[in-house]
Parts: sequence; structure tokens; C-alpha cells
Amino acid sequence: MHFQIVPSPNISVNQNTGEPFRPSVFILLFDSVSRSSGIRSIPKTINILKENYGAFDFRGLNKVGSNSLPNGYAFLTGIRTEELPSVDFHMDEKLPSERPNYCHEYVDNSTFIGKNFTDAGYVSLMAEDWTYGVFKVPGCIGFSNKPTTHYLRPFYVRMGEDKMLREQTLWQPCIETYQPLMEYHVQFLKAYPTTVPKFSLIWITELAHNYLDGLFHVDDYFANFFQQNRQLFRESFVFMMSDHGMTFGPVRETKMGQKENGNPMLFFAVPESLSHNKQLLENLRTNSADRLISHFDVYTTLLDIATVAPRTNWTDF
Ligand SMILES: [Zn+2]
Repeated sequence: MHFQIVPSPNISVNQNTGEPFRPSVFILLFDSVSRSSGIRSIPKTINILKENYGAFDFRGLNKVGSNSLPNGYAFLTGIRTEELPSVDFHMDEKLPSERPNYCHEYVDNSTFIGKNFTDAGYVSLMAEDWTYGVFKVPGCIGFSNKPTTHYLRPFYVRMGEDKMLREQTLWQPCIETYQPLMEYHVQFLKAYPTTVPKFSLIWITELAHNYLDGLFHVDDYFANFFQQNRQLFRESFVFMMSDHGMTFGPVRETKMGQKENGNPMLFFAVPESLSHNKQLLENLRTNSADRLISHFDVYTTLLDIATVAPRTNWTDF
């Protein structure tokens, strides 16, 4: 079974140079990887991001819900799906969910960030290696329409349905499920000229969701990926992150495991054109080192990149 990127005829490849600067955005998410676990598992990759991309290590990112769905909702739509315990002494009181019926409403009708980027003229891509997907967990309806210009979901739905196909496509040639995602993504990056801004979200579940040591063996792969493709990401915001830490297993019985579960990793690099902006760098230094942040801050940052920041020509940080 194969996949390919066929460039969309609806995307203008001759961007007007008078347009505001529109850097690309790449989000690489490893499901269930805490900051500590990331540092233990993929040190070479992190080192390349820090040294070659100038990435910041956000030490204080907090998850906002128990599993992928509420955290995905938070950083991709800005919507709080879970109830919030009161912070005062009336401990019985809870703030209700901002979208109590979220599992039975299409994500298309939300503030999904991919739409903001598409509306701003970006060509977009979303791809996950889990047959269900973050918004389509059992019991939830997910998207009604293709949410991005390019979408790999049909490939993994077929893989999930047909064991023989999975065996022929992945197991026999010894291909792990993350590899087609990455190949698809590189095809995407190369299918459009650099003048076309790109938004891409790669969500990798199978590597680490069930295995605390699942990421170790891919450190060389991702270190090479970021090293070899430095040029492709030169004018991009790059997020390498997770939704939460390990959610189950013996490690959760330990105090460290509980702390790690609440502190997903986030490494974040800015486009080269913005990498000398003193105010931006100061904000990133402060917010990465000394502040507690949450997935709602990630959403706000994405929204700023898609909407407000270009209007001020990236001068207001
Ligand atoms: Zn998850």
C-alpha cells in the first residue's frame, strides 16, 4: 500500500513578496513522553535541536487533562473539555467544561488551529500513526471533513482494518509505523516551493504510548532527520513535544512517575529571521526556564503565529 503528496492546485505557489512574513510551522508530537523521559531517551535529537536550531527547553509545561484527547483539544483548539476543580475552599464546586458534548460534536466546528493556518494561506498536513487518532478515540466522532490539505488517516485506517495488509506493508519489510509518517512529511515539504508557508502536525503514538523505553532506539533516526533537513526548517517554527507523560504501568506507582506524567516535553525553535529579536529571545528564555505553562499557552502561541503576529510584522512580542 502506498501514499503520495499531490500538490493542491488551490495553493498559490507564487506568493506575493509584499505579503507579511509567513514562517512555516512544524509540530512533531511523541505521545506520552515527559520532559525527563525525552531527555533520557533522545538526547542526540534534543542536542541537534538546541545546537543547530537554537531550540528552547520548556521545563514547566503542564498537561491539562488525563489523556491525549483533552490535551490535544487544549493545544489544537484552545478548548477546555474537562471540568476544573475550584481553587478556593469550596472544593465541591467545579467549573464546567467549555464543551461538555465535545465527543459528539465535530472538531471541524471548533477553533481547530489547522483551519486558522489554512485560512491564512498555508498548505497544511496532519498525520497520525494510531488508527483511531487523537480526536477520534473510541466513542468520539472526530472530524467530519478532511481537516488539512493533506491527511494520512485513510492509510492508517486501512492498516488497522487489514492485518494482512499491515504485515505486507510494515512488518515484512521491517518498517515501523512512524516511518511512513515521516516519509509523507518530507514529501510534503518538498512538494511545494519554500515560498509557500506550511503547517504540519505529525502525531506519533505507537513508539512510546505503551513503552517507557520506546523512544531510545529512534534517537539516531530523529537526530539525523533534524540534521539532514535543517535547510527545510530554516524559516520554520519547530515544536517537538508531547501531550502528557506515561499514563499507566508500574512507573505511575512511583512519585517520579506521577510527576513525569504531568510534565510533557516541549522543545521549541523559532525561524532564523526571528532568532535575533531580543524581546522574543528574552520572552522565550524566561518562559522556558522559570514559568509554569500549559497546553493553552501552546495554542495561544500557534494562534498568534497564524493571525496576530504577521499583522504587526513580527514586532510585538
Ligand atoms: Zn496521549
